[in-house]
Amino acid sequence: MKQAKIRLYVEHPLGPGQSVPLDKDQAHYLFGVMRLAVGDAVALFNGRDGEFVAEVAEAGKRKGSLICSLQTRPLQMPPDLWLCFAPIKKARTDFIVEKAAEMGAARIQPVQTEFTNSERIRRDRLQAHAIEAAEQCGGTFVPEVADLVRLDRLLADWPGERQIMFCDETLVGAEEALGAVEGHKWAILIGPEGGFSPRERERLHALPQAHAVSLGPRILRADTAAVAAMTVWQQQMGDWR
Ligand code: SAH
Repeated sequence: MKQAKIRLYVEHPLGPGQSVPLDKDQAHYLFGVMRLAVGDAVALFNGRDGEFVAEVAEAGKRKGSLICSLQTRPLQMPPDLWLCFAPIKKARTDFIVEKAAEMGAARIQPVQTEFTNSERIRRDRLQAHAIEAAEQCGGTFVPEVADLVRLDRLLADWPGERQIMFCDETLVGAEEALGAVEGHKWAILIGPEGGFSPRERERLHALPQAHAVSLGPRILRADTAAVAAMTVWQQQMGDWR
């Protein structure tokens, strides 16, 4: 079989010999845009069964199918890390979602804080960005993008065993690094361009699971802060070790 150059996310179950139907958009992409033909190979993953190499069995304009052969990668789950962030401008929010998928977040949680200016998000569009990032970076898992939730609601139901790396911009330049904390379940919390309100900060500082940290001597933009925080966390507690 030819070498697969394209990685495609599908929802369908994958396994040796499994036939995978393609929808209109996937058929258009593979056969109309990428000009694949019967017999060509594609790498498939669905976020659950790992990655398989599959061969084009049927190539139509609006539909088609692939047949899986060998598993090329097992499912590799990221650590149990949520990225909670306040949505900012569209392109920067897209960036955060893309980077979270590449950096290995298990769940992406948009949060509405008091100073969040963007009150709506297109969850489906952000989910599509996470899928594209996983296709591109070789990931076999796709983090779920959750619906926007208010910070006070999120904290009211906060699971007791999940620690929070609370990136607090008022600690800029302080020596508040992320210390060694027991526990495998974590969340990173990043505020909006306007930062956290005093009330929110107070609430977070009072929460036993929250660990307020500084991200160095400069104030970072929220999208930079999200990547920086994930880097620090992955290196200290995640799957970079
Ligand atoms: N307007 C605010 C900055 C907000 S930066 C101010 O001038 O103070 C957006 C978010 O990025 C912050 O809410 C925080 O979560 C994170 N952040 C940026 N720089 C940081 C730093 N040096 N330390 C900790 N968190 C930081």
